[in-house]
Amino acid sequence: MPGATAQTLRPFLWRAQTMFPDREVVSRTHEGIHRYTYAEYADRVGQLANALSAMGVEEEDRVATFCWNHHRHFETYFAVPSMGAQLHTINPLLPDHHIQYIVENAADRVVFVDPSLFEKLAGAYDEESFASVEQFVVMGEEVPDTELENVVDYESFVGAESAEYDWPDVSEEQPAGMCYTSGTTGKPKGVEYTQQMLWAHTMATLPEAGLDLRSSDVVMPVVPMFHVNAWGMPFSTTAAGAKHVYPGPSPTPADLASLIEEEGVTLTAGVPTVWLGLLDYLEENDADISSLERIVIGGSAAPKSVIRRFDEEYDVDVVHAWGMTEMSPVGTVAHLKPGMESLSRDEQYEKQGKQGLLVPGLEMRVVGDDGENLPWNGEDFGELWVRGPWVTTEYFERPEANEEDFEDGWLKTGDVVTVDEEGYVQIVDRAKDVIKSGGEWISSVELENAIMAHDGVAEATVVGVPHQRWQERPVAFVVPAADADESTLKDELVAMVTDEFPKWWAPDEVVFIESVPKTATGKFDKKVLREEYDDESLV
Ligand code: ADP
Repeated sequence: MPGATAQTLRPFLWRAQTMFPDREVVSRTHEGIHRYTYAEYADRVGQLANALSAMGVEEEDRVATFCWNHHRHFETYFAVPSMGAQLHTINPLLPDHHIQYIVENAADRVVFVDPSLFEKLAGAYDEESFASVEQFVVMGEEVPDTELENVVDYESFVGAESAEYDWPDVSEEQPAGMCYTSGTTGKPKGVEYTQQMLWAHTMATLPEAGLDLRSSDVVMPVVPMFHVNAWGMPFSTTAAGAKHVYPGPSPTPADLASLIEEEGVTLTAGVPTVWLGLLDYLEENDADISSLERIVIGGSAAPKSVIRRFDEEYDVDVVHAWGMTEMSPVGTVAHLKPGMESLSRDEQYEKQGKQGLLVPGLEMRVVGDDGENLPWNGEDFGELWVRGPWVTTEYFERPEANEEDFEDGWLKTGDVVTVDEEGYVQIVDRAKDVIKSGGEWISSVELENAIMAHDGVAEATVVGVPHQRWQERPVAFVVPAADADESTLKDELVAMVTDEFPKWWAPDEVVFIESVPKTATGKFDKKVLREEYDDESLV
C-alpha cells in the first residue's frame, strides 16, 4: 500500500516552521547581514507563492534564478516547487550563448536576478532566446537603470501579498527543479529533478551515511545555489531544522572566516579551491573558526594536503563527497568504517582522500571496455555506472545524449574509477581526461595530485597532448608558487613523479603558466589547454 501523501518537499518546511520556528536563516547580502526565523521565512515563502500566482505562474511552469546564495534565493527554493512549478537555477558564470540556449530551452516565464548579476543577464539578453520570459525580478529593493522591460524589485513584488497560500497536493512525479550541466563539450544538458528525486536525495543525505545533518548544526553552503541546488543543502538543512547561513555574492575568504566566527558555523561545503583560499587566509590573519566541525568537499578531488591541514591545524574533519548534476548530486561520501579509528592518521587520510562509499539507496557497477563488470580490488579501473531514486535516467529534450549516457536505467558517469575491497570508490580520471599512451592509461588526476604536493607548486594540471607514436603523452601545466625556484622546479617535479609512478607516466614536458583556466563551476578547464596545445610541438 502506498503512503497517504506523496514524497514532496513541502513537509520539510512545515516541520521546520512548526517545530523549529525560532531557528535562524542568516545571510550576507549587498545590503548587509540579514537574519530572520523559520517562522518568518515560511511567511515570505507564502507571500512569494502568492506573488507568482498573481502574475499567472501555474503548475508546471518554469521559474528561473540567476543568483548567489542568500535568503531571497532560498525563498524561491520552497515557494516555486511547492506551488507545483519548477525551479530552474541558472549558472551566471556561463558564457552568454549558453545562457541564451538554457533560457530558451527551458522556456522560463520569470527570472529572479541579483543586482550584482543584472548587467551580466542584460548583456546575455536577446529577444528571441528570452521570448518566454514575462517578468524579471531583481533581488533587492531597487531596480537598476535598464532598457529591459517588465523589471520589478523583489520587495515590491512580494510586499503586499498575504503569507497564507493554499498549497496544492503536488504529485511526486512533478518536476520541481532543473539544472544544466556546464557541458565541458557541446551544449549544456538539462537535468530535471522531480519532487520525489529531491525528497529522496534529502532523506539520503540527512543521516550519518550521507552528510550527517543535525538540528544543532549551523550550515553554511558555500557551493553556489545555482550548482545542483547547493548540493541539496538548503533542503536538507531545513529538513534537519538546523540554522542556515548564506554567504551572499562572491564571498572572499575573509567573508567566510567572519561568518564562521560570528554565526558559529559547524558545517560548511564547497569545492577545493574555496578551502585552499581559506587556509591561506587563516595563515595570515587572526580568525576563530573553532565552531567548525566538518567541511564537505566535492566537485573535484579533495587534496590530501587540505584534509591533513584542516585536521591537524584546526581539528576540522573533511568529509569528501562525489556527485554529479545528474545525481541531484550526492553519490558517495568518504566516511571511515568502524575499526578504521585504529588506522594511522596517514592511512585515514588515504581513505578520506578517496571519493568514498555509495550513499544508501544507490547501486553501482564498474564497467570495463568490454562491457563486463570489473573486480573491486583497488587496481582495475573502468567506468562507474550508477542508478537510484535520485539519479536521472534522461536529459531534457536531448535524445542523442540519452543514447550515449544511459543504458537500462544506469547512468554512465564518465568517471573512471577503482573500487577497493572495502567498497571505497576512487576517481582515477574523467573518461575524457584519462591519457591514453601506447594503449595504456595514465591517470591525469594522480599526476596532478603528486605534482601539487610539491611546495614549489601553487596549482597544476596535466593534459594528454597528441603524439605520433604513443597517441598521447602527458604534459604538466604548472603555476609555480611565489617563492619557488623555477630553475630547478621542472627537474624536481619529473624526478618526483618518476619516483612514485612507472617511468612512462612522467610528463614529457612541464610548462609554467600564470594560472590554470577554470570552467564556470570552478574546475580546471583542460579543454582550453588542449586547444592551445593541440599540435605535437610540445612532446
Ligand atoms: P560538469 O562539471 O561537467 O558540469 P558536474 O558539475 O555535475 O558536471 O560535475 C560532476 C563531475 O565532477 C563528476 O562526474 C566528477 O568527474 C567530478 N567530481 C565531483 N566530485 C568529485 C570529487 N569529490 N572528486 C573528483 N571528482 C569529482
